[in-house]
Amino acid sequence: MDTKSLEDAIRNSGHIVCLLGRHVAADCGCLDYRLVDTAYAIETKYGYSPEEIFSASFYNTRMKTFFDFYHNEILSKLGEPDACIHALKKMEDDGKLFSVVTRSVYGIPGRAGMRHVLELHGSVYQNRCPHCHTEYDVEFMKNADGIPLCTKCGQPVRPQITLAGEMIRNQLVTDAANEISQADTLLVLGCTMDSMLAQGCIKYFDGNRIILINEEENYSDNIADMIYHVKPRDILPNVYR
Ligand SMILES: [Zn+2]
Repeated sequence: MDTKSLEDAIRNSGHIVCLLGRHVAADCGCLDYRLVDTAYAIETKYGYSPEEIFSASFYNTRMKTFFDFYHNEILSKLGEPDACIHALKKMEDDGKLFSVVTRSVYGIPGRAGMRHVLELHGSVYQNRCPHCHTEYDVEFMKNADGIPLCTKCGQPVRPQITLAGEMIRNQLVTDAANEISQADTLLVLGCTMDSMLAQGCIKYFDGNRIILINEEENYSDNIADMIYHVKPRDILPNVYR
């Protein structure tokens, strides 16, 4: 594989924005419930598909099952930043990478100390009582038995993540569009170019090159200018040290 051209492209970029896809979160050890086997196991265990459970209507009508799933499957597999994330952190520290845009809710870049992260679907690390607005950390949610209840007013504490059927906050979309429109290089990691993340973002890009690093091949790959079919963690740390 020609890694020299990737190394050169990154070195010659002055303003990189990274789209961080779901496969990177999975590489870090987070639950990827869109994998067929995982989705099947969840549906067998809970009686509903993960897509059904992760919806606003399900949250509102079957809250106990939602939190059983959330507690046992999501919060128990939050993973750790891998070599890919640490390479991105170095890029940010060096002033090359200006922001990360992601739909993942596991807070992985932030846990590596990255500062400019736009989490379009929120984060499991932010939790709030919708009634009195008291904030709770992820440890509170992990330690809750059943539905986590606000210690001040007794209402269910809501993870600040976007569920199916809910809108992404407008300001986040505007911020992401602004960031992407200023980039000279768009680094797309761990997702296809026809993923919701890439589709929602590339229309704002007006820079020089799109670099795609994603293990699986896809018909949409050729939207990118440079393509590497490998896990991001198996190439990025080698070309950016
Ligand atoms: Zn409250």
